[in-house]
Amino acid sequence: MNKKIRIAVQKSGRLQEQSVKLLKECGLAFSNGPNRLKAETFNFPAEILFLRDDDIPQYVEDKVADIGIVGENVFIEKQKQVDLVQRLDFSKCRLAIAVSKDKQYDGPSSLEGKKIATSYPNIVNKFLKEKNINAEIHEISGSVEIAPGIGLADAICDIVSTGSTLLSNGLKEVETVMRSEAVLIANNSLDNEIQELLEKLIFRIKAVNTAKNNKYLLLNSPNESIEAITKVLPGMKSPTVTPLQQEGWSSLHSVVNENEFWAIIDQLKALGAQGILVVPIEKMII
Ligand code: ATP
Ligand code: ZN
Repeated sequence: MNKKIRIAVQKSGRLQEQSVKLLKECGLAFSNGPNRLKAETFNFPAEILFLRDDDIPQYVEDKVADIGIVGENVFIEKQKQVDLVQRLDFSKCRLAIAVSKDKQYDGPSSLEGKKIATSYPNIVNKFLKEKNINAEIHEISGSVEIAPGIGLADAICDIVSTGSTLLSNGLKEVETVMRSEAVLIANNSLDNEIQELLEKLIFRIKAVNTAKNNKYLLLNSPNESIEAITKVLPGMKSPTVTPLQQEGWSSLHSVVNENEFWAIIDQLKALGAQGILVVPIEKMII
């Protein structure tokens, strides 16, 4: 019987939707109704396990799941014997230290002898060690941001994306401890068959994520501008050039990074480009 790769994803929470979306974009078809613990994929030998994200590193170490999607912060905090095999480019956030907005803060030394509430004791410990600070870590599992307000701690270390939660709790961010994004982790002794499935999946993830950052660009160019336009296009290779019905004009097709595209748009127009189309790419193999 052919083996299936067991993929752990968060059961509910901030990683869930995008983890499922990514796997689906990679061509894995499965249904993920609420309260499901497991889902079979129809067209790829895989099984999806829906678990609490904090438990995923342990399950992957124990090979209950072969691979899993977690926040890098959880991967680092849990210190399990698992490999980070692919960064996934979503759920970007940072772990930051915050204090009451009316407290003075003059750098890490202001934390000396203080109490820091966090769900990430290992990460905070490492940070304090690096800065040579002695502080007491108070581990709590949720609602960390209310700790200073109720007198439980002087500072917190928690996940921040926009900072609005901190603000509404009267806190200010004072140190970035680490940056994080969703990552794919894997057991470090997978058998060959499963390893091959993992490599197939990583190949697809790269194709999906590369496509997200790139756009397919089409434009019409007067023939005398083709060379100049080609020079400013940050394409994968040289653009495809096809003559238009209209004498002296050609159509140029290329793949460009979306951010770079905005930087050259004025140059393209100045060189006489017309009818510029920017189209999303679904998958991109490079
Ligand atoms: P619990 O498991 O107890 O529900 P949690 O903090 O572990 O709480 P989520 O809030 O679902 O679970 O967060 C899961 C992961 O998503 C975090 O570990 C982090 O990597 C990422 N994350 C959390 N908050 C944000 C955010 N505001 N923006 C982007 N990514 C975030
Ligand atoms: Zn969690």
